[in-house]
Amino acid sequence: MTEEVDLFVIGAGSGGVRAARIAAGHGARVMVAEEYRVGGTCVIRGCVPKKLLVYASRFSHEFEDAAGFGWTVQHPVFDWTTLIANKDREIDRLEAAYNSTLSKAGVTIVKSRAVIEDANTVRLLADERRIRAKHILVATGGAPGLGEKIPGIEHVISSNEAFHLTKMPRHVLVQGGGYIAVEFAGIFAGLGAQVTLVYRGENILRGFDDDVRHHLRIEMEKRGIKVITGCTVAAVEQHGTHFSARLSSGNAVTADQVMFATGRNPNVAGLGLEAAGVRLAKNGGIAVNEFSQTSVPSIYAVGDVTNRINLTPVAIREGHAFADTVFGGKPTRVDHSNVATAVFSEPEVGVIGLTETQARDQFMKVDIFKTQFRPMKATLSGRDTAILLKLVVDGESDRVVGIHLVGEAAAEMIQMLGIAVKMGATKADFDATMALHPTAAEELVTMRKPTVSHIRRAAE
Ligand code: NDP
Repeated sequence: MTEEVDLFVIGAGSGGVRAARIAAGHGARVMVAEEYRVGGTCVIRGCVPKKLLVYASRFSHEFEDAAGFGWTVQHPVFDWTTLIANKDREIDRLEAAYNSTLSKAGVTIVKSRAVIEDANTVRLLADERRIRAKHILVATGGAPGLGEKIPGIEHVISSNEAFHLTKMPRHVLVQGGGYIAVEFAGIFAGLGAQVTLVYRGENILRGFDDDVRHHLRIEMEKRGIKVITGCTVAAVEQHGTHFSARLSSGNAVTADQVMFATGRNPNVAGLGLEAAGVRLAKNGGIAVNEFSQTSVPSIYAVGDVTNRINLTPVAIREGHAFADTVFGGKPTRVDHSNVATAVFSEPEVGVIGLTETQARDQFMKVDIFKTQFRPMKATLSGRDTAILLKLVVDGESDRVVGIHLVGEAAAEMIQMLGIAVKMGATKADFDATMALHPTAAEELVTMRKPTVSHIRRAAE
């Protein structure tokens, strides 16, 4: 017998879980299929465990910095097994919480891979059941891609495996220059490993403001991370417990762990999308309209599988908006502009809005307000580090169109600054805000004169 539901969600990650819960709240009969663990990438092997590892890695700096404040900290010892066990316990707790939230909302969870058979039918591979659904939501996320199949690729791990290593590597090679590469380089270095980061481009974090890229690279190097740019890993050979990574430059790097963070691909394979007539976009994600509806009207898609902005809160918003649109009688679009983002590198990066280059392409006059300074804590700790704060202002309207921060608590700062930018705050609004002393963030409201003003000439 075929079961019938109003909504069938494929994938119980951030986007799918939110959509399922809200749709059920609107009175829909909802079923969710998950082939791995409830919670998805963010909870199980992404943002959450990553941040826990970031916290762990930062203690080494705290121990070092403490001496200047009068503390004697004798030989702190780090135990990887304890960290991973505690992290796993927390992830188990969160997974249970997600399961319980769904159950309480009246959502049926099935542990199975699901394949779309047609516009309104899904087949569960675990027991070959067929489910008829008025609507289907694809929320299958993405998965790490390791790039070209170089010799020795079988020795390379992705971030997925990095969360479950049985022992802490001492020499790590990370390939990539994006979020995951710089975050894991910071984690391993903070935990005491020697880290080499290999990136194919000119500088890490392509797409970010050039000052941020430059500043972060210098800060990472100060913390002992070796950054090699302009080349790739061409082959990986195993020699006993170690690996030798041959670079395209001809050099070799020895490591006991080689990790690639070379991007993530939307999980679209084997879902029956093509047969059902669901079109893909050029970037490999499922093509959707502003309501997350695919080329098949009864099938929707949210989150990383659509390859729009691949961030958890965006997936959650998209899932919520979908449920309100389809089941709540309230058509809702997600505003993908001015989304704040953070890189949990060491030190942190927080950004929102346009880079200086983007603003100069877009506006006739652009004012840049930029400051770099030694954080107060470093005056006693003696740490060689600097904070970067940068405002990008449309010189004609005075609106702050971009903010770029590198330094401690940059993620926390940018979340709050995001409200001001979203509200259309001007530089005059920043100037009118009283400083809070002594903080690093006070510099954001005390920069009076532009460091530089760009005026576009008519021919440009
Ligand atoms: P990114 O797209 O951020 O970075 C991928 C990196 O790998 C780039 O530097 C890219 O180089 C490089 N690369 C790609 N292909 C190859 C190749 N074949 N050989 C060598 N280098 C290659 O992906 P990540 O994997 O770091 O993260 C995936 C996404 O997950 C992020 O974009 C982000 O949306 C999300 N994320 C967000 C986090 C956060 O919010 N803090 C944390 C982690 C992930 P190039 O620049 O030249 O293209």
